[in-house]
Amino acid sequence: MRCSVCGSERLSPLGELHLATQRWNDRIQLRFPRGGFFKARPTYEASFARACRDCGAFLPFLSEYARRQLDAEADSLTDITDA
Ligand SMILES: [Zn+2]
Repeated sequence: MRCSVCGSERLSPLGELHLATQRWNDRIQLRFPRGGFFKARPTYEASFARACRDCGAFLPFLSEYARRQLDAEADSLTDITDA
């Protein structure tokens, strides 16, 4: 696996992604626009991350459950338009 920023192969081991806030259940989420008026907004939790040991880039990863969920729904997801 290589760093997507500098190309280094010196990435850290996979670590648990943690938000340093007061609330124990805070999570980093990847969210997409709603697929329809009555549909929930597709949201996937990023639970893990690696850091590049050379440039410091931070690469979040979905949990295996969230990855499978995203893969199953990927064809119906659309880009955020107001980014
Ligand atoms: Zn890097």
